[in-house]
Amino acid sequence: MPRRVLVLNNTYEPLNICPLKRALVLLIKNKAEILESAGLKIHSEKLSLPLPAVIRLHYHVRVPPGERRKVSRRAILARDGFRCQYCGSNRQLTLDHVIPLSRGGASTWENVVTSCAACNVRKGASLPSEIGMAPHQRPRPPSMIELLVSGWSDLPASWQPYLGLATV
Ligand SMILES: [Zn+2]
Repeated sequence: MPRRVLVLNNTYEPLNICPLKRALVLLIKNKAEILESAGLKIHSEKLSLPLPAVIRLHYHVRVPPGERRKVSRRAILARDGFRCQYCGSNRQLTLDHVIPLSRGGASTWENVVTSCAACNVRKGASLPSEIGMAPHQRPRPPSMIELLVSGWSDLPASWQPYLGLATV
């Protein structure tokens, strides 16, 4: 029985993943509708409801721009496709400051990339130009999708069409 539900904004953009209980409250209060159910039904004394897998809010939630969301290790890894941004390895992944902290770099989406331990050590406190190591992709704030999926190893199949639709 799925205990987590994908929540879409009223614009159909993915918003977050919430516990089943929270989704049921939204549905019971008529603040959301079910787009995909998990096939089963929930019965209680007062109601009978399909078990939700994906719900859509009846109201709009304003989402802060990506650059204002907190930098997290998981989201950086997801954004970078779980690959070292210097050599492409997917082993012993760490986070690297492109401009090292000791050289005035900041812990921002634009300055932190996925790096394998070996590349991280090799780069050390050098600037990219000094050592000829630049990230494959220019670091940027992650999309809403990348933030959402960063905590999940396998997404329910019923969620995937809705994640693919997002344009954030
Ligand atoms: Zn590497």
